Amino acid sequence: MASASRAALSSIPLFHEKLLKSNRILAVCGAGLSAASGLPTFRGAGGLWRNHNAVDLASPDAFEADPGLVWLFYAYRRHMALKAKPNPAHHALAELARKIPGFKCLSQNVDNLHVRAQHPPNQLSLLHGSLFSLKCSESPQCSWTDPLNTADPLCPALAPASEDSVDPTKPLPLLDPSKPLADIPASELPHCPECKTGLVRPGVVWFGEMLDEGMLDEIDGWIEKEVVDMVLVIGTSSFVYPAAGYAERARTKGRTSVVTVNLEITEKDWGRMKEGDFGFEGDAAVLLPVLLGPVIGTLEVPQGDA
Ligand SMILES: [Zn+2]
Repeated sequence: MASASRAALSSIPLFHEKLLKSNRILAVCGAGLSAASGLPTFRGAGGLWRNHNAVDLASPDAFEADPGLVWLFYAYRRHMALKAKPNPAHHALAELARKIPGFKCLSQNVDNLHVRAQHPPNQLSLLHGSLFSLKCSESPQCSWTDPLNTADPLCPALAPASEDSVDPTKPLPLLDPSKPLADIPASELPHCPECKTGLVRPGVVWFGEMLDEGMLDEIDGWIEKEVVDMVLVIGTSSFVYPAAGYAERARTKGRTSVVTVNLEITEKDWGRMKEGDFGFEGDAAVLLPVLLGPVIGTLEVPQGDA
């Protein structure tokens, strides 16, 4: 099949026409969505924290080997996420959910910004969990969880991760690999209030761990139920997992437009788009309010926390 013309693929009027006829919309959001809120993602190439590859800190083995170090990494990310604010793309998606009951948003982001943008919870699936949920390191043997804990710092031993730079031209000592970190013994970290033996750990999905099965079943059921008119892929590529998987599965149900909104869309990806698909290259925080405008109207970004 000949590839679709670039003009049609990036036509906002054609996109609006399709959007206004769409009742069932799936969004898959990746790190690029939160980049516009100033949050580093630590995934993929260059994901370094101090001199550690972030991938090496995000695993059950790393936590077992040095829970203090892993907790400092997550405590720092919690602190940064609390300082960040949801951007207009988060607000646009939350408003789309309020306007279209058949809209479901899947997000790989763990920063809680969708929740803080008041995204309706029954239309949001956090694929990789949240930095602000806690669970027991003995899970699944121990089922203790705390779905929302925004304490910053979480405990006195993690206070160095909650410091802000006094001199913004100098890096925080915590982030300077030449400055050694004090070892935090496990005894100074929070312990599970239920089993008392496990440590409290971040409620995120680590490398080597499975995504929540109940959540995946629920998403599968939603996709299988009826034709999905549109799959919005935001801040990630629509040709890599997991977005690629959801887009392909949605297409098997009928005519589905796959819409990519990403800072960069490669030539290869443009070439792989099908007729009726769309690609919009740029900052999701700028593009989404415009793209979703005919449904959500003019965004009124609330003051205060958001
Ligand atoms: Zn426990």
